[in-house]
Amino acid sequence: MDRRRFLSRTAAGGIALGGAAAQPPPSATAQRSNLPAAVTPTAYAVPRGEYNAYLTPDYHTYASDLVIEREQPGKPHQGKVLAAIQAHADDITLFCAGTVAKLIGEGYTGYLIRLSNDEKAGKTVGHGVVQNEIDNQEAAKALGCKKAFSFYYRNHRMDDCAMIEIRQRLIFLFRLLQVNTVFAMDPYDHYDENPDHIVAGKAVETASWMASPGGGHEYPEQLKAGLKPCQIRERYYHCRSPQGHNLVNRVVDISSYIDHKVRANVANKGKGPAGDAGLRLRQELARQGKKLPLLGNDDETANFQYVKHFLMDDFRILGKQFGLEYAETFRYIGPEPDLRQAVGKYVDRNAVAL
Ligand SMILES: [Zn+2]
Repeated sequence: MDRRRFLSRTAAGGIALGGAAAQPPPSATAQRSNLPAAVTPTAYAVPRGEYNAYLTPDYHTYASDLVIEREQPGKPHQGKVLAAIQAHADDITLFCAGTVAKLIGEGYTGYLIRLSNDEKAGKTVGHGVVQNEIDNQEAAKALGCKKAFSFYYRNHRMDDCAMIEIRQRLIFLFRLLQVNTVFAMDPYDHYDENPDHIVAGKAVETASWMASPGGGHEYPEQLKAGLKPCQIRERYYHCRSPQGHNLVNRVVDISSYIDHKVRANVANKGKGPAGDAGLRLRQELARQGKKLPLLGNDDETANFQYVKHFLMDDFRILGKQFGLEYAETFRYIGPEPDLRQAVGKYVDRNAVAL
């Protein structure tokens, strides 16, 4: 995300989902939509709160097999590796940092990979490059990632880069780090005004497939040099807001990790709506001889509270629909069925002697 939009929308959020079910209550549809009775809505307006930080999409399309991913005790993901790939320093932090932190908390080893140099977001072009490089590192720490990488492609010019180069660099890292799960901007999203997001989503999707054991002839020198194929079996595609109108089949409960998400966003000083926004408001109020008790008595508290209270409210409202304190939503693609295993079971059951 690049914009700082705090537009208040006049249109009320449309149709509320009833609990975890994919179908909205008909009464809610009737009350809040002007659709003719015979027409079933296929996209649902995401409700807005008082602050409307514009961090959740205008609409979601919910799948009939939607799953709520809840917190799991212990470290069920121990030994697994995730890569969270973003075009810009604030994409993962704004849209899916809670889920990344949750999976790391449940045992994953995490890596943060930024594809652009974020030069368009800073006091100057050069300042943007330096500040966002620092921010990417700090956000990775706040999320509990082991390491952060940057590819430094020029910001908002990534559609002029060779896709196969971006893809190859990702395949190299996926194989080196033995990645099992990826996070990225949804490559199936219908709308996005930022060209880098589209490139990033497509690059991650294709690299995830080609880095697998089935891609043994893809960049064979990597394998000959000692890298191993990796089995990426889970993909969490997050929406881009507000233009993201993507399919949602997974809602993740991030209630216990909301403070991780807040800290990751506070780390983004160079761009986005978080960073030092709290301390700036506190300073501005002080110049006017006022203070907000919410922002506390120091800059660190002011930044944390500003992000949690004003920016995370979108995710609180999203969660509320599903009975959760805070939530994030995804187009989740899980492990593919194992055809050979299924055929083997059939053979075991049905093979007879010649
Ligand atoms: Zn972005």
